[in-house]
Amino acid sequence: MTAEVATPATRAEGQAADGRRRLIGMDRDDFAAFIAEIGEKPFRANQLWHWVYGKGAAGFEDMTTLAKSLRAALAETATLARPVAAEDKLSSDATRKWLFRLPDNELVETVYIPTVERGTLCMSSQVGCTLTCSFCHTGTQRLVRNLDAGEIVGQLMAARDALGEWALGSAERLITNLVMMGMGEPLYNFDEVKKALRIIMDAEGLAISKRRITLSTSGVVPMMARCGEEIGVNLAVSLHAVRDDLRDILVPLNRKYPIAELLDACRAYPGVHNARRITFEYVMLKGVNDSEADARELVRLLSGIPAKTNLIPFNPWPGAPYECSTPEAIRRFAEIVNAGGLSAPVREPRGRDIGAACGQLKTASIRLTARQRAAQAGGDAA
Ligand code: SAH
Ligand code: SF4
Repeated sequence: MTAEVATPATRAEGQAADGRRRLIGMDRDDFAAFIAEIGEKPFRANQLWHWVYGKGAAGFEDMTTLAKSLRAALAETATLARPVAAEDKLSSDATRKWLFRLPDNELVETVYIPTVERGTLCMSSQVGCTLTCSFCHTGTQRLVRNLDAGEIVGQLMAARDALGEWALGSAERLITNLVMMGMGEPLYNFDEVKKALRIIMDAEGLAISKRRITLSTSGVVPMMARCGEEIGVNLAVSLHAVRDDLRDILVPLNRKYPIAELLDACRAYPGVHNARRITFEYVMLKGVNDSEADARELVRLLSGIPAKTNLIPFNPWPGAPYECSTPEAIRRFAEIVNAGGLSAPVREPRGRDIGAACGQLKTASIRLTARQRAAQAGGDAA
């Protein structure tokens, strides 16, 4: 099974194509090193940090606490560029989806989901996904690469730009919560996801607290403890089945890390206790994993783990081999799980009309690749 994919070195070093340094994605150490490199005093690093991540400055000329000469030097050596929206779609339910173009022309999707109590941004960690969960559209995308920290933080910065959030006071924030539930398996891109989330959690910058961030994994057992210790965010686990033979099919990673090992890693997750439960995601597939016996087994499996569940109605995509469970089956399943002492909210599908719902993310570029490539080749020759 393919797992690790590379983060290309030039991007990892934070250089834009024109050789300028990309500030977005730099952490505090990188800022200190960069400021020293350009011969400035160390305290400038803090000032620059504040402009970049606290205020979301789009240009160096806005950085009024910095000397004009420094602003000019920065404009020459550094860039504040974020991913550019190739598409920006608004759903009838106010969910908004951006398709962001990265410097190498790859595309990733980011979704903003506003509700009365919160605004959640669902971010991607990879272009595509190396795992091939049979119900997930992203898993059918062949091209995969890791995003670097700048491309992850950049999704949040670009979303804030588009929502006009920088100008608002902290009490009026629009993006209050983050979920790493877009394209990709975040624990297969651990270092860059960790770097990005630590930048995002910094109280003097983007300042989204770890309690408002949830990372969803399909069950990369060896990385789960490090996720808790080194990032400290809430964990969601894509369980989806209560028996190994079925989970082997739905989430093929289960063949490597079966249910018992996965649940042991959940019991040991650093910081997990009753007030900070692990969310177990369970996609509702008609006639596949939605029986009453499955619900009872789910309660049994999770007993003793500080857990809550999240039942996700299956979101169909073209050619998907499953159907969503009936509302009656979902209601019955939720009742049994609730009666077993686990909270079992049913996730309301959002943004279905713009292909923004869970598991629907797959960039159109991949579907068109052959044709596009042919067209491009023709175009170049002409
Ligand atoms: N790779 C990570 C995070 C991204 S997927 C993971 O698998 O956890 C985010 C969530 O969407 C996961 O729980 C995933 O199982 C779920 N999902 C994927 N495809 C879906 C679909 N078609 N309908 C509903 N949920 C889906
Ligand atoms: Fe990858 Fe998650 Fe989709 Fe599975 S569900 S293919 S791990 S994105």
